[in-house]
Amino acid sequence: MKILVIGSGPTGVHFALSVLKKNHQVTMIDVGTQRPAMALPEENFTGLKQSLDDPVRYFLGEKFDAAILPEPGTDSKYYALPPSKDYVFEAPQFFDFATYGLSPLVSFAAGGLAEAWTGGCYPLNDTELSAFPFSYDDIEPYYGEVARRIGIAGAEDDLARFHPHHDDLSPPPSLDENSARLLARYEDRRATLISKHKIIMGRSRYAVLTEGRDGRGGCRYCGRCLWGCPNQAFYTPSLTLRECVAHANFTYRAGFFASYFRLAPDSSIAHLVAYAVKGCGRETFCADAYILACGTISTSNLILRSVYKSTREIIRLTGLTDNRQVLAPFINLAMLGRSYNPDSYQYHQLAVGMLSADSSQYIHGQITTLKTATVHPLIANLPLDFKTAISLFSDFRSGLGVLTLFFNDWRREDNYLTLEQTSIDGARDTWPRLSIHYTPPEDDPARIDSALAKLRRFFYDLRAPIIPGLTRISPVGSGVHYSGTLPMSREKKSWCLSENCQSYDIPNLFIVDGAAMPFLPAKNLTFTLMANAVRVAERAF
Ligand SMILES: Cc1cc2nc3c(=O)[nH]c(=O)nc-3n(C[C@H](O)[C@H](O)[C@H](O)COP(=O)(O)OP(=O)(O)OC[C@H]3O[C@@H](n4cnc5c(N)ncnc54)[C@H](O)[C@@H]3O)c2cc1C
Ligand code: SF4
Repeated sequence: MKILVIGSGPTGVHFALSVLKKNHQVTMIDVGTQRPAMALPEENFTGLKQSLDDPVRYFLGEKFDAAILPEPGTDSKYYALPPSKDYVFEAPQFFDFATYGLSPLVSFAAGGLAEAWTGGCYPLNDTELSAFPFSYDDIEPYYGEVARRIGIAGAEDDLARFHPHHDDLSPPPSLDENSARLLARYEDRRATLISKHKIIMGRSRYAVLTEGRDGRGGCRYCGRCLWGCPNQAFYTPSLTLRECVAHANFTYRAGFFASYFRLAPDSSIAHLVAYAVKGCGRETFCADAYILACGTISTSNLILRSVYKSTREIIRLTGLTDNRQVLAPFINLAMLGRSYNPDSYQYHQLAVGMLSADSSQYIHGQITTLKTATVHPLIANLPLDFKTAISLFSDFRSGLGVLTLFFNDWRREDNYLTLEQTSIDGARDTWPRLSIHYTPPEDDPARIDSALAKLRRFFYDLRAPIIPGLTRISPVGSGVHYSGTLPMSREKKSWCLSENCQSYDIPNLFIVDGAAMPFLPAKNLTFTLMANAVRVAERAF
């Protein structure tokens, strides 16, 4: 069968690899912006600072964009994505949008958004899958397959009550000292802490190899995770793209913006129209089946444009969801007077889960201790003059960390994507532009306050108090877990998908990215998206 896949993010590449293994002919269309060469791959973080010709430019950017300065009257961020990841978020000229209530991050890179992700990988359990047309038992083999392909580190510890068993979970890298001391304190007082606070702590699950395999190195604790892992221990989808490219049946057409599907009178796709990102070329692509894996925002855009092009009708795709995210810096008092080690794995290594009477309201948190990440946003936010803040900060630095909380979201009719009429020029056509509408759930402030109150008491008992005044509710859209606009549904409904992610409206179309999610649990979604893409490839092709 000839299959056309659009997008090389985590969902596109895992779908493609599965159908390639079944001997199908696969063409992948992708804007596919390439990562620039890795700077001095043999160096660790400290070596990089010492050996680069212009370290300031590397770490802060040509225009110092990665330096976050507090803006009076606003809650400033605690970190910015580094200049080495700028390419992930470059958009082609054809992509334009207006947004009302949610600021999205969209990627057109080879590998997609997960070229800049932090690797959190958690399987959903049956409660979280209750709105899906399949159960945990149905998707479990595909979680195992993805874990085998990418390498997921973690432990079946206390948190395993929330994260059901799947195959190929590998032992995690060593903990940095701050995380190790925090976990030891939890383990010492575990029974009391759990019964008093109903909060569980354990190792987080993340996409990193502890030991090398398949041409990738194991983690060598170089502290460069945020800027890009130099020895491929940390998983990004461009590694799977490389595997696809090695297949004789695979054709990768990077440099094309998929603009719209030409729909035939029977509603099936006749062909895809794509524009060359450079120059003014236009090409059409035909296949037996078309797979959308562009990420929820771009996939929805392509459907909206296809309907508009065929009928001049502007439709709405409702049910846009994203996880609300809260950042709470804390200080682990057990680290006072100790120094930090920059030669550490940099992202989260611990996680928390909050029990609740209603298990569908599970709240998920990841704990990232401060190692090599830029520290000036934290210093600048301390309610002290700069000199005192720096001096106090150097005493406390090794004990600092940030708890990142995620809250679930569910599909609501008033959160939607549509097109709006303003003339922007998309190559030869004039298109209405994408328009994104989102309002957070009404109970957001109450559920955030309630969770934070419990976590403050829990972290206090861990002797790692959350620092008063520094907690930030991230702007809407910061979760980067967009989903829900073309959901799977057992019921045959317009702009929904079957159990195998086949469109009920366009018979030769399958959608395998976040748009297909009927509900967004608190846990990071990408592991489920990859497993679902493999599930669809195995069941429908
Ligand atoms: C900073 C950050 C941290 C994150 N951390 C985590 C985490 O810890 N855990 C987690 O689960 N998730 C995390 N995420 C989210 C995760 O990256 C996304 O869920 C995931 O990448 C979505 O995969 P996707 O395949 O659906 O689409 P994307 O990654 O968005 O990829 C889209 C692909 O489609 C292509 N494309 C798009 N439109 C077109 C078009 N019109 N024509 C041609 N090609 C097109 C792009 O080039 C790209 O290759 C994080 C994201 C960010 C930015
Ligand atoms: S995962 Fe992070 S610490 Fe480990 S080798 Fe890669 S960049 Fe270095």
